[in-house]
Amino acid sequence: MTKFRTLDDLTDISGKVALVRVDLNLPMQEGTVTDLTRVHASAPTILELADKGAKVLLLAHFGRPKGERVSTQSLSMVVAAVQGVLGREVMFVPEIAGPVVAQSIGILRAGDIAILENTRFWKGEEKNDPELVKAIAAIADFYVNDAFSAAHRAHATTEGLAHVLPAYAGRSMEAELKALEAALGNPARPVAAVVGGAKVSSKLDVLQHLVTQVDHLIIGGGMANTFLAARGIDVGKSLCEHDLAATVEEIMAAADTAGCTVHLPYEVVVSKEFAANPPSLRVCNVHEVAADEMILDVGASAVEALADVLKTCRTLVWNGPMGAFETVPFDAATVALAKIAAALTREGSLVSVAGGGDTVAALNHAGVAGDFTYISTAGGAFLEWIEGRELPGVVALTI
Ligand code: ADP
Ligand code: MG
Repeated sequence: MTKFRTLDDLTDISGKVALVRVDLNLPMQEGTVTDLTRVHASAPTILELADKGAKVLLLAHFGRPKGERVSTQSLSMVVAAVQGVLGREVMFVPEIAGPVVAQSIGILRAGDIAILENTRFWKGEEKNDPELVKAIAAIADFYVNDAFSAAHRAHATTEGLAHVLPAYAGRSMEAELKALEAALGNPARPVAAVVGGAKVSSKLDVLQHLVTQVDHLIIGGGMANTFLAARGIDVGKSLCEHDLAATVEEIMAAADTAGCTVHLPYEVVVSKEFAANPPSLRVCNVHEVAADEMILDVGASAVEALADVLKTCRTLVWNGPMGAFETVPFDAATVALAKIAAALTREGSLVSVAGGGDTVAALNHAGVAGDFTYISTAGGAFLEWIEGRELPGVVALTI
């Protein structure tokens, strides 16, 4: 188990200056923040530090301004949203280092909160420039990283600062690391992984790592078509990467060596056109897909068989929907399997961890996100974790 300091290790911080890396890369439409999930994730850390009397300076990036000041990507635009979630006044500082920041710290009282400007306005952020790191660190007493979602990047504010200041994991970072450790570090066995989504090619590393870690690998979504085709099954017009047949065979062989059982759908939902409730919709055995049909979901009886697999498992890692869930009724397998995982989790027989942009959307759509043990909203960082990679932002926090 990776060891790191947490907020529990911080005492006597009244009046001290805390640099807190958070995720404020909020989805926005026409200048209005449309989703506050990321602010809610870091609110406990921010409020705990403020309540302990620290002067809390929030560091975050927004968009990809590539080292230039871009007025439409200023973090001043999220101040109102952050104030709303925290229920506190939040100051905005248009710099991340230097005299303006120093002056602002002079104005802030113990327990006050400020957001510094978009860290990516400075070229040194993404280059992890030691000079920028030093300049940012100069005014602070300690550093807290609460942005797991940015931990796969070795940038000045996600990694560099941890080397020059006493460094701590925030509450959201701590929860994420504990959940991922429980799922893949030292999990209760048997472990199942559900991997779905559009393409095998986007998740090759995930599949290659998971076959060595889990007892059951359940493949769904478009990527199941690539596996089926590689096994000689005619998948018609389905989304399929025919050129990956050899890769699929390698993954199957690696699974075999590692003692991992790979589950492919044997019954599928097909249609001639990709539309909601299409007239040509039918359910069939994988061997009966016609040349002009595409596979868009896993069939209900195959889902039942997968449910039986999950019932024997103690841990589940899930990334990728089982079908084209945005279009009804191709959400059925994802919703059904999610409900089973949620019920097993509620009963206490399963530890369930899920992540991925579309996966989180699908679990929310199924109405069960709250029942999973942990849902990672970290996107790229979550995927890199389940690829078995070390995340620089996490390594830098390790003691
Ligand atoms: P995540 O964002 O959770 O990592 P992905 O981006 O890999 O997931 O995959 C999600 C996408 O895969 C969804 O848009 C979904 O519609 C698509 N998908 C799933 N199954 C199929 C299928 N059988 N045919 C085409 N697209 C599919
Ligand atoms: Mg996606």
